[in-house]
Amino acid sequence: MRLNLHYILGILGFLMLSFVSCKKKDPYAGATITGLACSGVSFSNTATAGNIYSATATIAYSGGNGVSYSSGSAISSTGVTGLSAVLQAATLNSGNGNLTFLITGTPSMQGIASFPISFGGQSCSINLMVNSNGGGSGMPAAFNLIYGATSITYDGTFVTVKTSDQPNHKSVYWPTNNPLYEAFSGPTFNNLAFNRAPNNIQTQNITLKIPAFPTVAATHAATPMGVIGVALDGVPFFNQYAAGGTLIADEIHGFDQYWAHPQMSGMYHYHVEPKFLTQVYATRHSLLGFLLDGFPVYGPEENDGSIPTGLDEFHGHTHTTTEYPAGIYHYHFTADAPYLNGNGFYGTKGTVTQ
Ligand SMILES: [Zn+2]
Ligand SMILES: [Zn+2]
Repeated sequence: MRLNLHYILGILGFLMLSFVSCKKKDPYAGATITGLACSGVSFSNTATAGNIYSATATIAYSGGNGVSYSSGSAISSTGVTGLSAVLQAATLNSGNGNLTFLITGTPSMQGIASFPISFGGQSCSINLMVNSNGGGSGMPAAFNLIYGATSITYDGTFVTVKTSDQPNHKSVYWPTNNPLYEAFSGPTFNNLAFNRAPNNIQTQNITLKIPAFPTVAATHAATPMGVIGVALDGVPFFNQYAAGGTLIADEIHGFDQYWAHPQMSGMYHYHVEPKFLTQVYATRHSLLGFLLDGFPVYGPEENDGSIPTGLDEFHGHTHTTTEYPAGIYHYHFTADAPYLNGNGFYGTKGTVTQ
């Protein structure tokens, strides 16, 4: 009896000591780095709202000191919740290398899941784009690539995209107290001098009702002023004209580090190549969004890196693409006017409220 009691007390003491030592132990003790490149993070899988997700995230570091570290504790996602990231144990290189996080869970909705990372004296956030689940079956899969919408629904004929027009990238046009604010002095698009316009980015309430299966129009409607389509990040596309119907030549000087700007009511928009999408998030030959007629918009290159040829008066042409392997009419951005759309919509347009 007495022996058993001592035995139990001994076990309890051991557990308490273990608990205290675990609590005090830093799993990364002694591991230091001098740089962590969260903006260049790569994920082994794409994520879809409501679907179980498991992937590794790889983040480059510099200035490693060769020390080993244990795996980390779970970091919960913010923004889009439901995911967690765990640093995998490894040994730092002396110099450059990669940290690997295992990301698991089920993202609660489409949008951006952010994970604040802190390791070896460096901190930053990694952002995972979570795609829409399409709001039902039968929707052409390409619409799932729109990650910045507040909602995407599908009724069998139209894809309805709602967006608050809050780009997930830096801009000199964010209010200075916004974490995405970043100073910019140019040069901007086409190497032009930058002059900051007076407006800031403000939250919008835009609804686009886009034909899911676009058809060529008998009569081609002119593109209106304001929203003519939507990019993957939820930012609207505008046409090549400024107020008064003149080309946007003067406006271009006000384009920020990602070649866009807000108009008077703070609606941020792309008239030209959306540099964040073509040079950070995706590539210059990627699908970038849709015009209001449902035909997709691609970057200024084809898949083989060539410049698109044979663009018609609406600034598009037809061939197979990654997302439409059977072939589809599509618009391309170009370096020169009209940049995105020519003389109106190729297809029958949907509707927009803004
Ligand atoms: Zn504009
Ligand atoms: Zn093309």
